[in-house]
Amino acid sequence: MFSLINRTVKRMVLHREKARPIVRISDTTLRDGLQTPGIRLAPEQRLTVAKALAGAGVHSIDCGFPAASPLDLEACRLIAKHVQGPVLSVHSRTKNEDIEASAEVMGKVSPFRRAISLFIGVSPTHREHKHNMNKAQIVDTIVRSVDRATRHFEIISFGPEDASRTEPEFLCEVYKEAIKAGALSIGFADTVGFLTPDKAGDRVKYILDHVPNIDDAMLGVHFHNDLGCATANSLAAVKAGANMVQGTINGIGERAGNAALEEIIVAITLHQDEFKRGVTVNVQALAGLSKLVAELTGFPLAPNKAVVGKNLFRTETGVHQDGLLKHVDTYMPFKPELIGAGPVEVMLGANSGRSAVRHKLAAAGMDVTEEHVETVMKYLKSDSVSEADLPEARQFIERMRPFLAQDEYGESRLTEAESVELDHSPTHAAGRQG
Ligand code: MN
Repeated sequence: MFSLINRTVKRMVLHREKARPIVRISDTTLRDGLQTPGIRLAPEQRLTVAKALAGAGVHSIDCGFPAASPLDLEACRLIAKHVQGPVLSVHSRTKNEDIEASAEVMGKVSPFRRAISLFIGVSPTHREHKHNMNKAQIVDTIVRSVDRATRHFEIISFGPEDASRTEPEFLCEVYKEAIKAGALSIGFADTVGFLTPDKAGDRVKYILDHVPNIDDAMLGVHFHNDLGCATANSLAAVKAGANMVQGTINGIGERAGNAALEEIIVAITLHQDEFKRGVTVNVQALAGLSKLVAELTGFPLAPNKAVVGKNLFRTETGVHQDGLLKHVDTYMPFKPELIGAGPVEVMLGANSGRSAVRHKLAAAGMDVTEEHVETVMKYLKSDSVSEADLPEARQFIERMRPFLAQDEYGESRLTEAESVELDHSPTHAAGRQG
């Protein structure tokens, strides 16, 4: 009787929550993100990231996989103890020992803020080669594990691995049974980053149309970036009706990484007319989150990384510089302040124009004559200034040095000789680029 009332109330709360016009942001930086080869974060560092994510207002945090490693166990314990706000979730196989370990580590968190994310591979490849189970055995395992988890958790999420390569009819059957057994949330995982945006949208629509009890669960999506489509796939899934998007800060994660949350959040924020829903995350916190994760993990952020790369707000090109100096919107899709970054940096390099050089000389507090501008321009175009040039030329260039974009990649610039060698040696060139 109690369980029936409990279920009815939970369902009502869920229906109300689902009706809100928001896209829920679920972070897995501390689980899938840390599966990046070579990244290792101490439990205290993970706590720092979790607090920052909570401060930014994410809906839920995938805290780790307690049964997988003592580091994860300790981190989950710390996060459970010290992080307020988001739903705190732990990753768990469909095994009793994992479920018990998850319950033990999350035991002190309020029942409405702790969650378990159960997973098992359901695609033909996973069924045959990994689990050696037929479809009926897989369904039975899922139902038993969800049922077992209801002993300890009010919020149970079930996210089958390799969902994108699973027969759609079987996938929907699996979801239906998991929801019937008590899962409040189901996940669509493109585990190997295989889909394209149209297919991602179609698969989400298919699930919404073919899982008969889908009203009783949230649908979350989880994409990987192997084909460079993770963000586009996530956005297509949102448009098709997914309630929640999972990803990582800076897109770190297995192989090519997970969908980068900062990209998804900014795209949804800039295109409210298209998505008809917003996010509850504080967009201004994104630059700080990105920096924090990059620094703690030591995982380099490409300068041209979408949304948060440092080149997003810098330019070396004359026409762009001239436009940006007149109005920042001329050559940027959004102002750096939107994500808490900035200011815009005008860099000097071979592509720079006179107005940028003049601007920089003046900003450095120097009396600008056209001769000075010419000297710097000559240096930028040729990398050298002869002794015959203005005696103070070197002084100008030293003063300009912080703005010189060319110093950025100094080590990797090819000499003329190397360029010639590469041109005649395709194998060597391929080796270099690989
Ligand atoms: Mn994943």
